[in-house]
Amino acid sequence: MKESILVSLIQNIATLLAFTLIYDYSWLKTESTTYLRKTISGIIIGAIGILLMLTPWTYITGVVFDTRSILLSVSGLFFGAIPTLIAILITSLFRIFLGGGGIYMGVTVIIFSGVIGIAWGYVRPNWKEKKHRAELFSMGVLVHLMMLVSTVLLPQGHTLETLKNIIIPALLLYPAGTMFLGMLMLKQLQNWKNQKAQEKLLESERRFTELLEDVNLLSQIIDKDGNITFCNDHLLMVTGYKREEVIGKNWFDLFLPPSQKEYFRNGFNRIIKGELHQTHLEDQILTKDGNLLTISWYSAILRDSDKGITGTASIGENITEKKIAEEEKLKLANILDASQNEIYLSDAKTFKFKYLNHGALKNLGYTFEESLQLTPLDITADEGKDKLIKTLESWEKRNETVSSATFEAKNKRADGSTYPVEINIQLFEYPTESYYLAMVQDITKRKVIDNQLLEAKRKAEESDKLKSIFLANMSHEIRTPLNAIVGFSNLLTDFEPSQEDKKQYTSIINTSSDRLLQIINDIIDISKLDAKQMKIKKAECNLLEVVSNSINTFQKSELLQSKPNVSLISKLNDNTKPVRIHTDKNRLQQVLDNLISNGIKYTEEGFIEVGLKIHEKHAEIYIKDTGIGIPKDKHDIVFERFRQIDEEVFHEGAGIGLSICKGIIDLLGGKISFTSESKKGSTFVIEIPLD
Ligand code: ADP
Repeated sequence: MKESILVSLIQNIATLLAFTLIYDYSWLKTESTTYLRKTISGIIIGAIGILLMLTPWTYITGVVFDTRSILLSVSGLFFGAIPTLIAILITSLFRIFLGGGGIYMGVTVIIFSGVIGIAWGYVRPNWKEKKHRAELFSMGVLVHLMMLVSTVLLPQGHTLETLKNIIIPALLLYPAGTMFLGMLMLKQLQNWKNQKAQEKLLESERRFTELLEDVNLLSQIIDKDGNITFCNDHLLMVTGYKREEVIGKNWFDLFLPPSQKEYFRNGFNRIIKGELHQTHLEDQILTKDGNLLTISWYSAILRDSDKGITGTASIGENITEKKIAEEEKLKLANILDASQNEIYLSDAKTFKFKYLNHGALKNLGYTFEESLQLTPLDITADEGKDKLIKTLESWEKRNETVSSATFEAKNKRADGSTYPVEINIQLFEYPTESYYLAMVQDITKRKVIDNQLLEAKRKAEESDKLKSIFLANMSHEIRTPLNAIVGFSNLLTDFEPSQEDKKQYTSIINTSSDRLLQIINDIIDISKLDAKQMKIKKAECNLLEVVSNSINTFQKSELLQSKPNVSLISKLNDNTKPVRIHTDKNRLQQVLDNLISNGIKYTEEGFIEVGLKIHEKHAEIYIKDTGIGIPKDKHDIVFERFRQIDEEVFHEGAGIGLSICKGIIDLLGGKISFTSESKKGSTFVIEIPLD
């Protein structure tokens, strides 16, 4: 080989190396894909092509050889179409400018080399993956076969001569050169890619570490033995440890309360073995001061390049206060639920319920979910709705943030029934929303007691009035016989009356004394009954005898004799055999006397009939009259003390006889009742148990 050929070969190689540097610096590193950049790259490649053509080795004058075919084909493969086509243009123009016999072949080789390189990239896009050396060599062979073929374009007679000279280097040396240049470029590409990946890795690692360091969360990395290899400042701050007290220590020994240590360590071991996939968990850790904190952890598994698990990285949130707040809320809700009162909370804007406590739901008969669809108006009985609306509207007008009102209303249950309530309702803001809070008390019981009190008050007032009437009556009742006694006693002593008058006066004095005694006895009886002091002396007696005694007494009485149109009829005739009962016969007699006396007293015409009926378990005595009767509306009061049917009009009697009768019959274990019709008469019935 001639010395000049060697020099040009070295120069060519140096130039091609420069080409690889351009690939590295101007192409790979700038990374952008603008046309400008592609154009500039094309111009630079073209310039390198010119440099190559300036240092050729010459076989024969006008026929020069250089490595532009290698340059352009590799350019096509690595730079793509635009830069390579520009380079083809520049080098072709330069070749034409150089002139000489090889001009056609030269230009043809330039075009073929570039185009084959570009085409190879398109046709075999995966050429880099496997057997890239073979790919590059094959492309080199193809390019330079084309070079051999294009020797036909040389001036006549030169073809064979040239072929003979270049066939060996063209098929071995040039493809090998193409291959080496391609490999060099590929290496650079690979390096660049690695570097990129490395940079990315470093960047993401830096970001990750920053994140772990900076967040207001606890972060830590634990190796597969549970030892802490990393922790952030926040973790140190929260737990109160210094970094050197934490790094290298076993996480479970350092932070977990003894009772939980084994449980969590087992879980961790299973994660490390790949048996358990858990990315979130909550646990309690101990601070240096021994306080318990609740932490919510999110963990990721760390692996080495062989995919083996090396530990875990975790981020944790200190949710201790959240937990406490939740528990407090729960406690509060329980307290509200336990309250006897009904508690309602509704949104002041939509008016819809936000919360009803257990008591409210139970009383109203709704479920919690149902209640959320309701407003206070849905559970207020119709008559209370207006009141509620007016109250709330007046608040709205005044635009006050805190208002409250208490009123009585009626609530309506799910089933439509109602119950009286006292509502204390308040408007308040929390924190920016407005709510109505109502404390509602079921006042059904209170209402009953209120009514009872009112009734008692009415009765007390009434009995006060009755007492006055009674006293007035009494004084009249007492004074009448007393006056008679005093008056006729005087007559007896002061004026010596005739025998006949004497008899009459004495009789009046006797009757009046009896009357007075009767009144005094009645008063004593009623007070005894009142004080539950009335003594009952039960003994064996014949009921028939008791009743006929009473009838006989009244048959002969002046009371009956004073009423010529009234007769007293005994209906005892049927019952001839004695009726044995165990009772207080004097008290029973007293009752019968009273009833028969009333019958005569309130009858002006007709009869009073007294009879006895014996039933299986009781005896029934009836006293029937054809007198003035008792109007229906007074039936309820006849057994009440001091009551007389015609309270405005005085007549004999103090209005306590029947109430004594009832008291006595009650004590004897019997019953007293009556039927009566105004102006037709009355029938009083006594039932006495037989034993
Ligand atoms: P009094 O001493 O006034 O008769 P009582 O307690 O015996 O008092 O009776 C209460 C009232 O019931 C009487 O005032 C009378 O108006 C009415 N009454 C009682 N018995 C009869 C009767 N047989 N017929 C009509 N009214 C009666």
